[in-house]
Amino acid sequence: MQKKDRDYIFLELTRSICPVCRIVIDAQVLAKDNKVFMKKRCKEHGLFESLLSSDAERYLNSYKFNRPGTMPLEFGTEIKDGCPYDCGLCPDHQQHTCVGIIEITNACNLRCPTCFASSEGHDFLDLETVNFMLDQYIKYEGNPEVVHFSGGEPTIHPKIFDMIKLANEKKIKYVLINTNGVRISKDEEFTKKLAELGVVIYLQFDGFKKETYEKLRGEDLSQIKLKAIENMEKYGLNIVLVPTVQRNVNEDEMGKIVDFALSRQRIKGIVFQPTFYSGRHTDFDPMDVVTLSEVIKNISEQSTHGFKESDFVPIPCCFPTCGSATYVYMDGNEAKPLPRMVNVEDYLDYIKNTAVPDVDKVKEALQSLFSFGAVGGSEKTVNSFCTVCDLPGNLEGIESKIKMIMIQPFMDPYNFDIKKLMKCCIHEITPEGKIVPFCAFNNIPKYRAEVNEFFASRRLVKVKSKISV
Ligand code: SF4
Ligand code: SF4
Ligand code: SF4
Repeated sequence: MQKKDRDYIFLELTRSICPVCRIVIDAQVLAKDNKVFMKKRCKEHGLFESLLSSDAERYLNSYKFNRPGTMPLEFGTEIKDGCPYDCGLCPDHQQHTCVGIIEITNACNLRCPTCFASSEGHDFLDLETVNFMLDQYIKYEGNPEVVHFSGGEPTIHPKIFDMIKLANEKKIKYVLINTNGVRISKDEEFTKKLAELGVVIYLQFDGFKKETYEKLRGEDLSQIKLKAIENMEKYGLNIVLVPTVQRNVNEDEMGKIVDFALSRQRIKGIVFQPTFYSGRHTDFDPMDVVTLSEVIKNISEQSTHGFKESDFVPIPCCFPTCGSATYVYMDGNEAKPLPRMVNVEDYLDYIKNTAVPDVDKVKEALQSLFSFGAVGGSEKTVNSFCTVCDLPGNLEGIESKIKMIMIQPFMDPYNFDIKKLMKCCIHEITPEGKIVPFCAFNNIPKYRAEVNEFFASRRLVKVKSKISV
């Protein structure tokens, strides 16, 4: 009898969870036909396979962009049950918080079939709790730069302006609002007030087709999104588009979204988020999902600006397979990607690169650009871009010429990789003051359950109807 070779390459062993009972189990990471898969077995629920990357070469190449982590000033919890049950942050965590998220409500004026948060509650955090959460963030981070007010839908919170002011008073530089844009499209006074407070709007924007919205959001929001952008442009808000990308829904719209964003002055960036299968959204084939590499490929093939896949660089602050980004300089209608002006790898290959010291100003500027903490259109982003490309920062209209394109896939219970989680830098701040990595918060049931319990303990009146601001 002949011995046979396996039809895949074994890359590594990591730990994951069973998608059914969520207990921690071993997981193999394998490469086959230039793709990367995860294979794992739960004693009770059997074998699970999922696609991690549709481009094994890019996946493996990204490992060298793994920047040494920075510790927070303090850890919030002790190591007791092991990762992912001790968040956080516990002393095993490998990276501080680049982005703090505060879910100020679990209520929403939409009922998206893709909602990972299953937002359909009617609870709103009070100002006192948000004050405590911001103080916890400051306690662990010192001078945190970025807070996202999220939900549910944060714009329907009656105290949203007070919360923004609170963050401003605490000198958190960038207050970002994650919104579906419905209220902004209908309420100009509200939009004007947001502009006066200097927030950046992260607008859910999935494309232009009616069918895209019907599928992802349950109704046609295409005109509402455009109206929201028009209102924000009128009052001078900085906008970052956040498209959810889903198989067989809007993969064909990525190039068009990029072209649209690059043509509008107030749109400073795009953050593509392939759907992840959590919350309400669980009906899918884990071997046929939209991956980070596929988004990059689609942008390169579809945009009229001639992007190449090599224009996108792994983000080193988190685990480098977690995200990629590029920046462009708009020279009239021509998009000039930053990685064609500077060899980013010369600076951000942390495995071999000890030649460029951390004090090098180009390296420092690149690290601030290729970070999940980078905010499209912010002064810091513009200055860093100018430093890298040796442009004078006072060029007229420079802030409208620099655009960020990021790809930020999140993990679901199928592709969950504890190795990646341990270096996560996108963190939820819970009402009890814990710092919980985003992918733990959305995949390990106890974390969201704790927040729901918090809401339930404070609930005075339970309303059943859908909120319609
Ligand atoms: S994700 Fe980080 S904070 Fe949470 S248990 Fe693991 S190492 Fe600790
Ligand atoms: S708008 Fe956001 S929070 Fe509301 S249902 Fe949709 S995905 Fe969920
Ligand atoms: S949120 Fe998830 S995918 Fe993103 S950096 Fe953290 S662990 Fe990685």
